[in-house]
Amino acid sequence: MRIAIVGAGISGLVVARLLHERHDITVFEAADYAGGHANTIRVDTPNETHHVDTGFIVFNDRNYPQFERLLGKLGVPWQPSTMSFSVSDGRGDFEYSGASPNGLFAKRSHLLTPWFHRMVSDLARFNRAARELLGGGGDGRDGGGPSLGEWLERQRFSRPFIERLIVPQASAVWSADPRQMWSFPARFLAEFFDHHGMLGFRGRPRWRVVAGGSARYVEALSAPFAARIRLRSPVRAMRRDDRGVVVSPHRGEPEHFDQVVLATHSDQALALLEDASPLERSVLSAIPYQINEAVLHTDVRMLPRRRRAWASWNYHWQPEPGERATVTYHMNRLQSLHAEREFCVTLNRTEAIDPDRMLRRIAYAHPVYTADGVAAQKRFAELSGRDRIHFCGAYWGWGFHEDGVRSALRVAEHFGARL
Ligand SMILES: Cc1cc2nc3c(=O)[nH]c(=O)nc-3n(C[C@H](O)[C@H](O)[C@H](O)COP(=O)(O)OP(=O)(O)OC[C@H]3O[C@@H](n4cnc5c(N)ncnc54)[C@H](O)[C@@H]3O)c2cc1C
Repeated sequence: MRIAIVGAGISGLVVARLLHERHDITVFEAADYAGGHANTIRVDTPNETHHVDTGFIVFNDRNYPQFERLLGKLGVPWQPSTMSFSVSDGRGDFEYSGASPNGLFAKRSHLLTPWFHRMVSDLARFNRAARELLGGGGDGRDGGGPSLGEWLERQRFSRPFIERLIVPQASAVWSADPRQMWSFPARFLAEFFDHHGMLGFRGRPRWRVVAGGSARYVEALSAPFAARIRLRSPVRAMRRDDRGVVVSPHRGEPEHFDQVVLATHSDQALALLEDASPLERSVLSAIPYQINEAVLHTDVRMLPRRRRAWASWNYHWQPEPGERATVTYHMNRLQSLHAEREFCVTLNRTEAIDPDRMLRRIAYAHPVYTADGVAAQKRFAELSGRDRIHFCGAYWGWGFHEDGVRSALRVAEHFGARL
């Protein structure tokens, strides 16, 4: 069968890997590299070379079974990483890190601040209440139940806990607008936190990174069909006809395929479908994406003022939250880089970074989850593969790498292929 796969992120590459031996595949990729959000940048300094991840960074031993299986089959090594979280206003008036008591009270006067203690004690209460919410029936993914905002208010958590701890954490996890977290489905969040061992202080998963950067697994995964990947080849549109699907690239002539796998984001997929059915339109538009600008840089002013408050993920807190998550990933810590400089990836604070310390600017996009979106995910089987077009991408799950792999396996299974 002649199959076009549009998008060479984790989802498209896994489908391509599983289909390339039995089918005549062509992978269209808009960018000049394969990997999508798995995007490792090589940085050469006078004395060193480093491979720094900028999009996908970490996975763990509990929530990424299919991705770990894939790495195992490819023989790609991983190494341990450390996960910790800090919140800082950037001025040093308010900051803490969850990594240790020293980090928690990085600002010593917080030891004597009642609302700070209440904020910390509310966390234990939140963990219990979230477990009760899950025990109360329903599935986090059914999109039902209260929104996070309603639920937090009903439970009477303190403002500092809501604004300076739980919203920053949730906003950082999904790179989501902190104000949008208010309408986020509470059960979806509770279920995610529970699965990731975040509703307790023990039994947390062990975090990992791909040794040498995520590009190492992309190379191994795509090696057998590298010649079938067309880089710098954005698809403009597609439509079904009586022979199959006509795929029109931005440059070049339209081509005929028997089937198409759309491994782009949901909004991009919908924009490509000239003849989208009402169902395709309604499901794909229920999970919109939001642009987040990432900058790889070495400006340590994007980390908390006090070094003892530095963490792997550092949330920049503002009294009036902006429209985007503002987070700095400390890559030396996450990837155990032994470097003379501190490598950071900062989301959505480009204007605050010293331009002389910027190494790369990249526009990424993340799915925005609402109750409608979570309900739309359930309709996958009604639409994918029903009319020659298949859909995969991390947006079919929680938006992470494992979700990308799982969505790809589901599509590959339709063609009778397994990992
Ligand atoms: C900054 C950041 C940090 C993250 N950190 C983590 C993490 O630590 N752990 C984790 O599990 N997840 C993380 N994620 C989530 C990440 O998005 C997913 O893990 C996953 O990589 C998404 O894969 P995908 O295949 O769905 O999409 P993508 O990787 O975005 O792939 C889609 C591909 O489609 C291509 N494309 C789009 N339109 C067209 C077109 N018209 N024609 C041809 N090609 C097209 C794009 O160029 C892209 O390559 C992070 C994301 C970001 C942005």
